[in-house]
Amino acid sequence: MPRPITATIHLSALTHNYAIARQHGGAAKIWAVVKANAYGHGLAFARQAFDGADGLALVEVDYAVKLREMGWNKPIMLLEGFFHASDLPLVQQHQIDIAVHCFEQIELLEKANLSADVIKVHLKVNGGMNRLGFQPADIPAAYQRLCAIQAVRVVELMMHFANADDEFNPRLPVAEQLRRFEVAQASLGEVKLEISLSNSAANLLNTSIRESWVRAGIMLYGGSPSSAAAADFGLLPGMTLRSELIAIQEIQAGDAVGYGSRFVASKPMRIGVVACGYADGYPRHAVDGTPVLVSGVRTCLVGRVSMDMITVDVTDVADARVGSEVVLWGRGLPIDEVAFAAGTIGYELMCAVAQRVQLIVE
Ligand code: PLP
Repeated sequence: MPRPITATIHLSALTHNYAIARQHGGAAKIWAVVKANAYGHGLAFARQAFDGADGLALVEVDYAVKLREMGWNKPIMLLEGFFHASDLPLVQQHQIDIAVHCFEQIELLEKANLSADVIKVHLKVNGGMNRLGFQPADIPAAYQRLCAIQAVRVVELMMHFANADDEFNPRLPVAEQLRRFEVAQASLGEVKLEISLSNSAANLLNTSIRESWVRAGIMLYGGSPSSAAAADFGLLPGMTLRSELIAIQEIQAGDAVGYGSRFVASKPMRIGVVACGYADGYPRHAVDGTPVLVSGVRTCLVGRVSMDMITVDVTDVADARVGSEVVLWGRGLPIDEVAFAAGTIGYELMCAVAQRVQLIVE
């Protein structure tokens, strides 16, 4: 028997969340972002749940090919383009769109011995995040060089927000990023390309953006892209991480628990030991008090997270016994609450679910 830890993927919740992205997107088409093994939810499950999406976007070319092998025949986009010229034959063979964000990529395309198959290119504008993308002033040159390559067709102008969850950020307001994008767009004169701007936060929070494509990620999996609760947007958890109690310890006031004896009991307590540790993807930096559900009762982590186990307070969970169900996050316990207690974000927890955790579908 495998260890009793599983991640249940709720396909109907993923599809429900997708419908919310579509609703907020208005007339826009939806790229369902499925990078990092669909934010840890499994590429094949995501492909099934987002069957209605207009396209799937990711960063791994080998996973893009897998999607084609799974029969996905709608658009696929590589959000970071390609990494090496040796990726280009696969890109062409499998009709994978690429984002192009720097002149070095254009040079590789110019020098590559491309076949006649069209590569659709999404030209990326740096809206001030200063991660990927051309400065607005470089857009005309980038566009012209791309147009001069026979197999390339530029179809879209895209930008990624640095902080769509924080519209009035004084360092880089959303309005400033949109202004930079408009400068880039205007620099192309009469050329009319499709537009893609929004991630989940912009899709949910900024209703004034007009675009051809939304690129929705975290919201599809039921995570919140902002400080608001996912449930406030009507999102449902896409994954429930479950395990079981594998031991119970009765301790006295003054007794310590776990590595480093971080937690010291101030009263007699029952401590449940859960088969889930950082090697399963549970955040090692989770603090005492991080919420967990034991037999459906909300209680909390006590003591340091170890590789294969955590310890939780089951003093007030009357029917807690070896074998009792423990929910680490998911239905009944929002992943964002756990992430917050561990000083991280839901994105990271989802993506970090380890390979040794069996994904099961519901
Ligand atoms: N677009 C790009 C270029 C991205 O890198 C990402 C994810 O990081 C997304 C869209 C989706 O973002 P989110 O998961 O916040 O919706």
